[in-house]
Amino acid sequence: MSRRADIVVVGAGVVGACAALALARLGAEVMVLERRAPGAKAPTAGVLGEDLRTLALSPASIALLAELDVDESDWAAAGCPYGAMEVWDAEGTGNLRFTAEEIGVAELGRLVPHHPLAFALWQTLEREGIACVTGAGVSGMEALGGRSVVRLDDGSEVEAALVVAADGGESRVRSLAGIEVSSEDTGQRAIATLAEIERPHENTAWQRFLPTGPLAFLPLPDVDGRHRVSVVWSLDTDRALAMEALADAEFAAALSRAMEGRFGAVLAVDRRVGFPLQQRHAQTYRAPGVVLVGDAAHVLHPMAGQGVNLGLQDVRVLRDELRRPLRGPGRALLGDPDLLYHYERIRRGENAIMLRTMDGLQRLFAAEDPGLRWLRNEGLRRVGDLGMVKRTLLRQAMGLDSTAGEPA
Ligand SMILES: Cc1cc2nc3c(=O)[nH]c(=O)nc-3n(C[C@H](O)[C@H](O)[C@H](O)COP(=O)(O)OP(=O)(O)OC[C@H]3O[C@@H](n4cnc5c(N)ncnc54)[C@H](O)[C@@H]3O)c2cc1C
Repeated sequence: MSRRADIVVVGAGVVGACAALALARLGAEVMVLERRAPGAKAPTAGVLGEDLRTLALSPASIALLAELDVDESDWAAAGCPYGAMEVWDAEGTGNLRFTAEEIGVAELGRLVPHHPLAFALWQTLEREGIACVTGAGVSGMEALGGRSVVRLDDGSEVEAALVVAADGGESRVRSLAGIEVSSEDTGQRAIATLAEIERPHENTAWQRFLPTGPLAFLPLPDVDGRHRVSVVWSLDTDRALAMEALADAEFAAALSRAMEGRFGAVLAVDRRVGFPLQQRHAQTYRAPGVVLVGDAAHVLHPMAGQGVNLGLQDVRVLRDELRRPLRGPGRALLGDPDLLYHYERIRRGENAIMLRTMDGLQRLFAAEDPGLRWLRNEGLRRVGDLGMVKRTLLRQAMGLDSTAGEPA
């Protein structure tokens, strides 16, 4: 027997769960389908149980969570606010520091391990009475009389006017809808882990651009007076695989060296999670009965720390575009691709700019050519000197100057 809903959201990661909450707020009957069982350990959990995948939430993303009544007490304590961001070039003297005071805000954002946030969202879905089918993945999909029938691998089916694909970078829904993806292999892997450092992180997100790739130390809350950071280290694939294979003490020493001992010794590290760095962009965000959001639509280099923020901007714009049809007779036409034209135009355009910027920055900082090295150091210095440019860059990274933003 097939179940019915106005909208089916496939994937209850941060983006999918927020999409479900936002669309349910507009009065849609929403059902969430998630492959993972609710109590399952995160595949990116460290040996100490914390999720090694850490997300940098912008103020715009934090505001969306608040609008959706995601209780801060369920996730905020696991995260750490940061008031400054500093990037510097290992091959020169260029350095750039952004601070919250410069643009008159209390914080630039918060770093939060993925699992507590995802768990808080699942609790909100439950509290809001949104139906969730967990523990079975989507394996098939077909169109039937203007609606989509989604098949799960336990043999059950769900029928809806619109399927929101929020099932991550390897989206099954995207491929079932026949949407092509352009993909660029950066030839690099990112290593994520948690580290304990000797000196405090000063609630600052640090990023050092090494010729082999960027290394970030992102602040996490101290535990029993021990200073902790989330580490994301991007390296050429061979070098990354060799690093991942190092014993803890050797890896800790390599990290400390790569950060020039700026935080004293790296005292301990958790297990390393490595993942290939691919930038991907879906060629369209819509097909009959289907729309893409989050990593299903775009995957970008973690250097930007913007993965989840772009996905949540997708959710805001999608909500704004579906507000009218959901409140009128257009509800039956939710799956009409014409209805999603503006959503795609706005979000695909903004995401393409970010993907291109990341690609350019990665190439610029990997360049060994002395001219390019001079240019990037000079660039960092000039941006630092130009207050206006710096403030504009900062406001954009924080999602404060985006197209979307009407509250629910
Ligand atoms: C290993 C890893 C490390 C990362 N590290 C960082 C980082 O350090 N900083 C940062 O900003 N971003 C990072 N990212 C990216 C960031 O996590 C994402 O950009 C962000 O969380 C948006 O994710 P999403 O909700 O769109 O997709 P995801 O978080 O991938 O969620 C997709 C959900 O869909 C479910 N699903 C998948 N297939 C199916 C199916 N067939 N049927 C039903 N359900 C399905 C999955 O179980 C999952 O819950 C990382 C991503 C990965 C994979």
